[in-house]
Amino acid sequence: MEFKNLKELMSYLSDLKRCREYYAWLRWGGNPICPHCNAAKPYLLKSGKYRCSSKTCKMDFSVVKGTIFEKSHIPLATWMGAVYLLSAHKKGISSCQLARDLGCTQKTAWFILHRIRHIMGDPDPEPLTNIVEADETYVGGKFQNMNRGRRKQWQEKGIDNKVAVMGMLERDGKARLTVIGKNTFKDVIRENVSPEAILMTDSHLSYQGLSMEYQCHLTVNHKEMQFRDGLCYTNTVEGFFSSLKRSIFGIYHSVSPKHLTQYCAETSYRYNTRKMTDKDRFIENMKAANGHRLTYNNLIQKKPSPAKDENINP
Ligand SMILES: [Zn+2]
Repeated sequence: MEFKNLKELMSYLSDLKRCREYYAWLRWGGNPICPHCNAAKPYLLKSGKYRCSSKTCKMDFSVVKGTIFEKSHIPLATWMGAVYLLSAHKKGISSCQLARDLGCTQKTAWFILHRIRHIMGDPDPEPLTNIVEADETYVGGKFQNMNRGRRKQWQEKGIDNKVAVMGMLERDGKARLTVIGKNTFKDVIRENVSPEAILMTDSHLSYQGLSMEYQCHLTVNHKEMQFRDGLCYTNTVEGFFSSLKRSIFGIYHSVSPKHLTQYCAETSYRYNTRKMTDKDRFIENMKAANGHRLTYNNLIQKKPSPAKDENINP
């Protein structure tokens, strides 16, 4: 199927039969498989559903069975339009904007975005290698911008409202953002960077000792206003942080700490697919929609409304 933009895609998908056929092709590449028993060659019924050809199974299933689109009242074409929009926007898209584009409520758009974010990126990525820059940053609201109630909540908890995020990036290669949480900086690096790598960090004490574990560990001392020492600098990863902060501040306005991991994944995904076309990114995401089910209650963990969440600003 050839299309150059959202308008052409949506006009093609306006026919339900065509829409299902196109998704079946994206999902199975022309060879549908029963999601219950993995048998090949199911019968296509008049209703547009499939019936498993295995004598022991014989189950009926639709093209969206077992995908993030299953059991949704949102039409498949709308989902596909949303995947395209989220794949194509360089800095992401807010739920308010998506609601306007798709003609749905903001709450529905919010849920769509979170479901799609769930499929973006590599669930089991390889460790980073070659020259790897690593640095930490903090994402979170300023106390003076909070109302008194929220400020008090945070102060009673006795913790900083900022969340530490580690950015790691192969020069001219892949990048990754991880919420540090209870791990140490070194744990996060060990988990994500191959020991073969040439590692570059600032001179923060938390990185000390990594030179024993890595082929090479070079540091720049930011406190002494040293930012570049030949090959050794962390400017690329700092640029990568600014794209996370820009998308949170400019597009999403506020992010709850609980969802920060997914925003980190989305920012990493955009960086890692920067050389792909919008269409290829769309196709890849549509294929990844297979086998991920995230229910609304899972997503919000039975909290009444996303608006009442603990929001933080960058
Ligand atoms: Zn079957």
